[in-house]
Amino acid sequence: QSQELSQVQIDYNAALQTLVEDGTRMVCTGRMHTDRICRFRSLCYSTEAEEFIYFHSNSSVMLPNLGSRRFQPALLDLSSVEDHNTQYFNFVELPAAALKFMPKPVFVPDVALITNRFNPDNLMHVFHDDLLPIYYTMQQFPDLDLEARLFFMEGWSEGVHFDLYKLLSNKQPLLREQLKTLGRLICFTKSYVGLSKITTWYQYGFVQPQGPKANILVSGNEIRQFTKFMMGKLNISLEESSSEEYIIVFSRTINRLILNEAELILALAQEFQMKTITVSLEEHSFSDIVRLISNASMLVSMHGAQLVMSLFLPRGATVVELFPYAINPEHYTPYKTLATLPGMDLQYIAWQNTDREDTVTYPDRPWDQGGIAHLDKAEQERIIKNTEVPRHLCCRNPEWLFRAYQDTKVNIPSLIHVIRQTVKSKPGPKKQKWSGGLYPGKVRDAKCQASVQGTSEAKLAVSWQIPWNLKYLKVREVKYEVWIQEQGENTYMPYILSHQNHTFSENIKPFTIYLVWIRCIFNKNLLGPFADVLLCST
Ligand code: UDP
Repeated sequence: QSQELSQVQIDYNAALQTLVEDGTRMVCTGRMHTDRICRFRSLCYSTEAEEFIYFHSNSSVMLPNLGSRRFQPALLDLSSVEDHNTQYFNFVELPAAALKFMPKPVFVPDVALITNRFNPDNLMHVFHDDLLPIYYTMQQFPDLDLEARLFFMEGWSEGVHFDLYKLLSNKQPLLREQLKTLGRLICFTKSYVGLSKITTWYQYGFVQPQGPKANILVSGNEIRQFTKFMMGKLNISLEESSSEEYIIVFSRTINRLILNEAELILALAQEFQMKTITVSLEEHSFSDIVRLISNASMLVSMHGAQLVMSLFLPRGATVVELFPYAINPEHYTPYKTLATLPGMDLQYIAWQNTDREDTVTYPDRPWDQGGIAHLDKAEQERIIKNTEVPRHLCCRNPEWLFRAYQDTKVNIPSLIHVIRQTVKSKPGPKKQKWSGGLYPGKVRDAKCQASVQGTSEAKLAVSWQIPWNLKYLKVREVKYEVWIQEQGENTYMPYILSHQNHTFSENIKPFTIYLVWIRCIFNKNLLGPFADVLLCST
């Protein structure tokens, strides 16, 4: 009954008639396949051909109408990973009259979001590529509400984290395989295809070595709105005045182990005078981990997907990421980028094992667990000798895998030293200070008055009013930046001023036209927009 679609009653004959007469209608947002999401009426899917179908009729609409550019390379990305050639969406076209010769369509009455999960077995990918993008795609389109139904077309089975996907809507998500059990021709009454990439912060290294995305558009605020939603669905309430402060060591139990975990826990507890506990995905339920993390002062963990759970840390908490030998922390920064997003308000610390004595390698394991026995001898020796994995592309670099799946004996004094460089006193959630981050509006009523003294000297008195929004704000420091540019010149003289007027006399010539640009700055780094340029003739 989880696959029961007909919670909303539809009139089958009316639906069929609409499909035959009106065909498919599609209107999309986005200029390129990488930023496109499409809204469809009567998009169909053949479970035998495993193809989406667009039916042409006298009333069908296709915007953008790309012609054969629809295949160069695709209409859109079905996952949030940019331009990945296994994640493209397209449809085949048929005249609506062909329906006469096709299997009877089964209609999906729910509003559907049709998309691909990228790697549902890896928790980092689950949150970054799927859950956050799905959540915010649903926020973008009002009819994708909690009664909408998710359709995952990547072809994977549910995977270990399927319960998380179920939190996003009240209806059971359906997988590609399950569509076959519904019928041979499925028609989505109303559907959205694609996924917003607006919340993603990391690129995994398919075309250039991995790193933060070039133009990050998400801040801690949106991340925390999402985690608040997830915690609500998991029935976890934020304990406001939580009694005890504690540190969490998030351990892995299968590979990339911390070999001296007991020693590490004791050392952290002693150094910071805090209870220190371990959690792992194998030994704790997801809800328990979220509950614990959402009140923790510090999260310590080996580099790895479990660190995406720092999403749930309270503001002010510290993330300590441990890197195995020969792995440069600067080259693998999905969790650093997350922790340091503006407004996440987390402290991030990386520690790397630099001592060969403290690492345990596994050259004889299968290649995907870091084994290198399949490589030729010279290559094996080179890898073993090397002290740092060179930057590389995803996803099968044997040197990277060899080093990534080492176990590590953490050098405790070295780790404590690194943490102490950042965490001076007790780590932990700070009282939620209003970090603000509100920008000034334009300055208003800018005026200038010129006065000429003789043939070579002049003065320019410029005044303006405060930005309109300032009177509603408490701002620590308000400054003004003024640029004076002689008309026709490329250069300008910049000034930072504290008052709302100033008389400029340096380098001001008589009988000259100056362009005066003024903007307000809050708290040193919150730059407002320039007001309309002021023309001043001396
Ligand atoms: N994982 C885990 N315990 C382990 C090893 C892996 O819970 O001992 C989880 C890990 O958090 C991730 C998934 O298994 O969600 C895949 O781990 P993998 O090592 O392939 O990826 P990575 O953590 O390096 O991203």
